[in-house]
Amino acid sequence: MINKRTRGFASPGKYIQGPGELNKLEKYTSKYGKNVAILIDRFLYAALETLLSEQYAENNNVEYVQFGGECSIGEIDRFKAAAADISADVIVGIGGGKTLDAAKAAASKLLIPVIIAPTAASTDSPTSAMSIVYTDEGVHEDFYIHESNPNLVLVDTDIIMKAPVRLFIAGMGDALATYFEALSNEASDTANYVGEGYRRTMLGMAISKLCYETLITKGLQAKIDVENGCCTEIVEDIIEANILLSGLGFENTGCAAAHGIHAGLTALPQSNPYFHGEKVAFGTICQLILENKSSELLEEVIGFCLSVGLPVTLKDLGIEDNKENIRIIAGKALIAISSEPFVLTEAMLFNAIKAASEIGKAKKEA
Ligand SMILES: [Zn+2]
Repeated sequence: MINKRTRGFASPGKYIQGPGELNKLEKYTSKYGKNVAILIDRFLYAALETLLSEQYAENNNVEYVQFGGECSIGEIDRFKAAAADISADVIVGIGGGKTLDAAKAAASKLLIPVIIAPTAASTDSPTSAMSIVYTDEGVHEDFYIHESNPNLVLVDTDIIMKAPVRLFIAGMGDALATYFEALSNEASDTANYVGEGYRRTMLGMAISKLCYETLITKGLQAKIDVENGCCTEIVEDIIEANILLSGLGFENTGCAAAHGIHAGLTALPQSNPYFHGEKVAFGTICQLILENKSSELLEEVIGFCLSVGLPVTLKDLGIEDNKENIRIIAGKALIAISSEPFVLTEAMLFNAIKAASEIGKAKKEA
C-alpha cells in the first residue's frame, strides 16, 4: 500500500516511429553536441557502424562501442568509461532491450542525454527510465530507476521489420502482461515506477488497457504481415503497442506476478535461449490463474499465445515441469513479487505455475 495520494506519470521526452528514422540520427544527436557515444548490439554492429559512419561528418567525434551481451554492472561501466573518454555530449543505444538498458544506465551515471533506438519491437524497456541489471551469466539481479526517461525514443520501422519475427512476437508477450499487472497494482494500491513511486494516473491505466486491446484485435494479423514483409498500419500499431503502450503502461502502473515469474524462470539456465517476452507471456498465464481470473479470459489469453506462437507450457521454455524446477521458479518469483492484492506464498506460486503449464499442454493437444 502507498500511504500518499500523489499521482505520478513519466514518459520519454519524444517518441518517434516510422520508416527510415535511423538514417536521420545525426540530425537528432546534433541537438546535443558533436561528441557522440553509440552502443550497438553485437549482431548488428558491423552493418550499423558502416551505415552510421556515412551520416557523421568528420567534425563529429563519434565512438562506436559493441555491446557485450549482458546488461551487467561491468558492461555498464565499460561503456560509461568509453563515453567519458570522448566527453560525450549524448549517448545513443541501438539494439535490443539489454543494450538499451546499458546505454540508459551509462547516460544516467554521466548525467548526459540519451537517445534510444530499438532494433526490434521485442520488449517494453525502451521508453522507461529503468534498466534491468543481470549478472554476467544472465541471471536477473536488480533494477535501476534513473532520474529521467530517455530524451528521445527513435523507432525505425524499416529496421524493426528486418529483425526476426520471433522478436516481434516476444514483444507481444511482454506487452500481454501490461494490463493485467496494472490491474494487480491497482487492486493492491502499489506504487508505480515513477521516481520514488507514486499512485497510478487514469492515463496509465487507459494506456495499459489499450495495449491489451490492440494485441488481442490486431496481434495475429500483424504477425502474419511481418512474416510476409508487409509493414502495414496494423504492424505499426503493434510496434507502438509493444514499445510505447506497454512501456508507458508498465512504468506508470507497475509490474506484478507475470514479471516476477519471469524473474523466477531466469534462475534456470535452460530458459536462457528464450526471450524476455516469451517468459513474460507464460508468466501472464500463471498470474491469471494465481488471481483466479475468469475461464473466458484465460481462454482468450492462452488462445492468443497459441495463435501467435508464444509459450504456454514450461516445456515451451525448455524446462522440464518437475517439482524441483517449479520450486526454484516459485522461490525466486516470490522474492520478486510485491504487488499482488493478497498475501502470496511459495505454494500458491508453485500451484499456479504447474496449473498454467498443464492447461497449456491440454490446449495444445486439443
Ligand atoms: Zn517486460
